[in-house]
Amino acid sequence: MQPNGLYIHVPFCVRKCSYCDFYSVTDLSLTDLYTAAVVRNITAADGYFDTVYFGGGTPSLLTANQICTILSAANIAPNPEISMECNPNSVTPDYLRDIRSVGVNRLSFGVQSFSSNELKMLGRLHNAEQAVSAILAAEKAGFCNISADLMLAISGQTFDSLRYNLDMISRLPLTHVSAYMLKVEEGTPLASDRDLLEKIPDEDDTAEMYLEAVHKLEESGFMQYEISNFAKSGYECRHNLKYWRCEEYLGIGPAAHSYIKPHRYFCPKSIEDFIAAPVQDKIVTDEGGSMEERAMLALRLTREGISVNEYPQTERYADMLIKSGYVKKEQDRLKLTPEGCLVSNEIISRLI
Ligand code: SF4
Repeated sequence: MQPNGLYIHVPFCVRKCSYCDFYSVTDLSLTDLYTAAVVRNITAADGYFDTVYFGGGTPSLLTANQICTILSAANIAPNPEISMECNPNSVTPDYLRDIRSVGVNRLSFGVQSFSSNELKMLGRLHNAEQAVSAILAAEKAGFCNISADLMLAISGQTFDSLRYNLDMISRLPLTHVSAYMLKVEEGTPLASDRDLLEKIPDEDDTAEMYLEAVHKLEESGFMQYEISNFAKSGYECRHNLKYWRCEEYLGIGPAAHSYIKPHRYFCPKSIEDFIAAPVQDKIVTDEGGSMEERAMLALRLTREGISVNEYPQTERYADMLIKSGYVKKEQDRLKLTPEGCLVSNEIISRLI
């Protein structure tokens, strides 16, 4: 039996950050009922999983017992990757030891920045010191696969503060970095804060910041393997690779997405409905796994790219894009360059 990925959306946050439009609620009294609902859904799905990813929201608001209850309900393959997103302010050394003992073996910290001013601007609850202590505590608790999210082009960010952030990354016991550009999402407090919006670096500076981040991360041993993801050798996120390789995964929890061939599904954004239903509703969005979709996802994987033999339609624009420096060709494969990653949607739609 081919194992799949299991994504569990944990929709709880202590407070909403100013830029975030992920689905989450602040009523933490619901975590027991939520845990029971996750268990019911896992049991009903009867799957077999070699990667489990607790995303959010803030999964580290669940207790180690609740994480253990959820993992015990799942049929998990040998040598799994079990990842959990954590907020630096919601973990203690004891908690880290406890979640490791129940099977979590990869942590992804929502650091975003090592500048307390930038963190305040983002409305994050942690400061720079807490981010560093959480990562060091995770190493001490025995985690040897630790990722950090880093945000680029934050309001007011300068090249100096970006370099400081990248320098901190290189000094800490990290194996993986996800580096995202700040995106202004409609309806968030950031979207209506003119002062902060004015301070967001302009397009040229944002592009330069991204290219500098790619360069510095690679210099520190974090090799780019996806538009926004960088890993030391052997530490690419196995779960997220399934998304880009168009492999099947089951998503559980409000706002979770799934791909179970041949369809893609999403679950409604309602914790109340999720808790009340014996098994949550899954709404079919569309057919998944078309050739175009597979190519679009594969092109995000900067080391793999796509084969021109498999996608002969790419020939039309490939030479022009190679000459412009957005794409490179290695053997029969076309791959995005860092400059191409900056305009990936446009390049991908041209090629495909
Ligand atoms: S960024 Fe993370 S911690 Fe902040 S509100 Fe969104 S999900 Fe919650």
